[in-house]
Amino acid sequence: MSVSNGIAPPASTNSKTSVVKPDDFNHILIDTLIHVCHLSHSTSSVANELFEQILQLGYARPNQVIFKLKLKKILAQLKAQYRSTNLDEQTQVEYLDAMHSKISDFESEFTYANELTQQSSQHRAEFSTQLANSIDEISDDVTEAESLVDIKSQVSAYLKQIKVDVKDQSEKEAQASSQLAGLLATMQSQLTNLQQQTLAYSAQLKQKDKLAQTDSLTGLPNRQGCDDALRKIQKSQPQPVCIGILDIDHFKKINDNFGHIAGDKVLQLVARFIQNNMDDNFFIGRWGGEEFLLIIEHQTIQDAYKNLTNLLVKIAQLPIQYKEQDIPLTASIGVTELPLNADATDAFDKADVALYYAKQQGRNQVQIGK
Ligand code: GH3
Ligand code: MG
Ligand code: MG
Repeated sequence: MSVSNGIAPPASTNSKTSVVKPDDFNHILIDTLIHVCHLSHSTSSVANELFEQILQLGYARPNQVIFKLKLKKILAQLKAQYRSTNLDEQTQVEYLDAMHSKISDFESEFTYANELTQQSSQHRAEFSTQLANSIDEISDDVTEAESLVDIKSQVSAYLKQIKVDVKDQSEKEAQASSQLAGLLATMQSQLTNLQQQTLAYSAQLKQKDKLAQTDSLTGLPNRQGCDDALRKIQKSQPQPVCIGILDIDHFKKINDNFGHIAGDKVLQLVARFIQNNMDDNFFIGRWGGEEFLLIIEHQTIQDAYKNLTNLLVKIAQLPIQYKEQDIPLTASIGVTELPLNADATDAFDKADVALYYAKQQGRNQVQIGK
């Protein structure tokens, strides 16, 4: 071990640098970018690809130049991607421009931090050589010295010099360390700031997405939400899974006999009743009018048939009144199983045919599509 390695930097700066390390910077940056990717995660496969790239950046710990180049590329792609999302364009572009300039700031600060680290290790190397030379000189002088007094005075002169060198070196290191710690702390707070912004932005986007997919009358997922649910089920294909369509019987008559507002209330009531009666493996969305899409995960077609038949019995027993008049209410369901790797749209069509058959057979019943 060289003599210089034994010299500890002052305690205060040492503890400061241990709080913020360049590695933390990388992690926070990658984390931030993952959030950015999440913003458009649901809207396109491009976003998924970017997400993967960012993950790879994190694992690969690439050298700084490559890291910067890749980040720039990803940001450029994200920018292009954002132009096609449903946020207004100016907000997207302004936001990404702000991100761009912040990332540029981080880059230059990071470069400076790196230079400081390099300078510091260069000083340390020089100092180490200097000390080694001094010690060589001492031992040469000791060998050549003619008296103990000579040795004592020479050694004490060298020790004085070494003391001065050590002090000088410690000061240089302390200065470099505190500069480095300051820089890293600034970078970290900027990144935290950026992370908060992206989180808020992400929440805003999610909220917007949710609203766009919600039916205002029933609060259920609307047609867009149903399409999304079908896409998801097509992708994940949990097994077994069934797809069904529930249609209120003679709904037109309800409108005709009790009025459109009463019809609206019935739709709200049926939606709420089904939602409250089903567990997390059950999806219901308003497909349109008085028709509802059902997705039932982890149930065989026989189980789904049994549960849906029970549901229809309960619906038929609902005590619905409007202006003190009883509203008779029943519904029909067509349901089919979605086999592994089968097309969800085909399954939907089969359920639709089965629903038609249920209507033909007298309504208020479940029919299985094959
Ligand atoms: P079936 O048993 O064969 O399904 O007969 P139906 O009367 O239920 O079916 P039809 O398709 O003939 O009529 C559906 C009616 O639903 C027609 C339409 O005016 C009504 N409807 C669609 N959306 C709404 C809505 O949001 N509110 C109300 N009140 N009525 C709606
Ligand atoms: Mg109907
Ligand atoms: Mg209908």
